[in-house]
Amino acid sequence: MSQQRNSAVCDRLREEAADGELFEQAKEYAVSYMCQILDQPVFPGPGAIDGLDVFREPLPVHSGDPYEILGRLHHYGSPATVAQTGGRYFGFVNGGIIPVSLAAKWLSDAWDQNAALSIMSPVVSVLEEVCENWLVDLFHLPKGTAAGFVGGSSTAMLCGLTAGRNHLLEQLGYDVSKKGLFGAPEIRVIVGAGAHSSVFKALAILGLGSERIVKIPEDDQGRMVAAALPELDSRTLLIVQAGNVNTGSFDDFQTICPKARAAGAWVHVDGAFGLWAAASARLNCLTKGVESASSWSLDAHKTLNAPYDNGIIMCSNRETLTKALHMAGSYIIYSDHRDGMLYTPDMSRRARAVELWAALKSLGRNGVSELVDDLHDKAVYFGEQLKQHHFVIHNEIAFNQVLVSTGNPDITAKTLKNIQASGICWGGGATWRNDPVIRISVCSYRTTYEDIDRSVAAFVLARKIATDRR
Ligand SMILES: *Cc1c(COP(=O)(O)O)cnc(C)c1O
Repeated sequence: MSQQRNSAVCDRLREEAADGELFEQAKEYAVSYMCQILDQPVFPGPGAIDGLDVFREPLPVHSGDPYEILGRLHHYGSPATVAQTGGRYFGFVNGGIIPVSLAAKWLSDAWDQNAALSIMSPVVSVLEEVCENWLVDLFHLPKGTAAGFVGGSSTAMLCGLTAGRNHLLEQLGYDVSKKGLFGAPEIRVIVGAGAHSSVFKALAILGLGSERIVKIPEDDQGRMVAAALPELDSRTLLIVQAGNVNTGSFDDFQTICPKARAAGAWVHVDGAFGLWAAASARLNCLTKGVESASSWSLDAHKTLNAPYDNGIIMCSNRETLTKALHMAGSYIIYSDHRDGMLYTPDMSRRARAVELWAALKSLGRNGVSELVDDLHDKAVYFGEQLKQHHFVIHNEIAFNQVLVSTGNPDITAKTLKNIQASGICWGGGATWRNDPVIRISVCSYRTTYEDIDRSVAAFVLARKIATDRR
């Protein structure tokens, strides 16, 4: 028998790991949160925010009691959350959580798998493979299209643009992975004027510069004007968009993508929330032609309503993607099965595919289609109701986005502030054609028509307060 003594802290942690009660307590808090969220103010009030001061303390020297730690999170953290799972949160395209997807996440959190390699987690390797196949099928993408599971669209975009940059330079006889950008042949980057800021961030990180980009003008709905595209060639990295962040509009893929590919260009689609339209029998007219792009970035945590931290990169050329993201080390054991780290910038990663698999399995093909249609129907209804109350709607409601104003910039800005302080609902702000607008994103299955009626009433009241105070 060893005479060595285990450290006190490890003894304690082992005891806690075996304490089922602690996890029962967490479950109780989570379930009570999920019930109270429907009544909680959509944005936390000043009292809840002030309560967060309990977290501001010096790093504790000694061990903490796990029940006190969990209790502190629930009693002070929960009331200060943004109630985005409640049904009346319309700021940003955030989405709710499909119940079994959340439950699956809890289970997989207990697994604590590392999704880097098949040999680290055969179960996650298989679930990633299944999700990849299902997504290719759902979006009607070319057979053999690869998917990588990352934190969000920003990272997915970075992967897609890396693959595109490397591919174009390889075609020019230049191995940028080995030689770097020093002395590399020039390539041209073309984006729509309405591109999401994460596009510019990714291009800046990739050494492609934000000032050398060719910006194509957008039409009144924020769509790239296809006729304004210059002659495309095999030195072109073109970025198009499924779902403009303000209007929700879609670029004309049918015109742009086949032409660009025929010219040898790499076409990346920012489909963060909009690519899901391809899964809808009714709305897939919006994404017609998108399948002929080279790569796609999207989020499962937005339109699909999977929990956060669920971005996806898809690339029609598997080898180009894995070559761009590959790394080697004597201790890394690749297998004949799917090794997830080949498809992402990360090595160690949590098992995101678990929640994605559960969400897709829960909805099925028809369910995804119905969910997407429902978000669109509700956005249309929201717009109609606001219009009836003499708000101005600035976009065609093609998908889930509604851009609203009162018709007067000053009153609009004040109305937005009042809405955000109302606790009834929450909308974001944006500038559209130089004027402030209120940006509504309908993106949770949780939202009901009653929620929209209540929210419209809150809009009307917020405008009244803004007008009366003038
Ligand atoms: C949300 C969004 C992004 C960024 O996605 P993250 O998951 O937040 O990284 C990119 N493009 C569009 C159009 C988006 O809506």
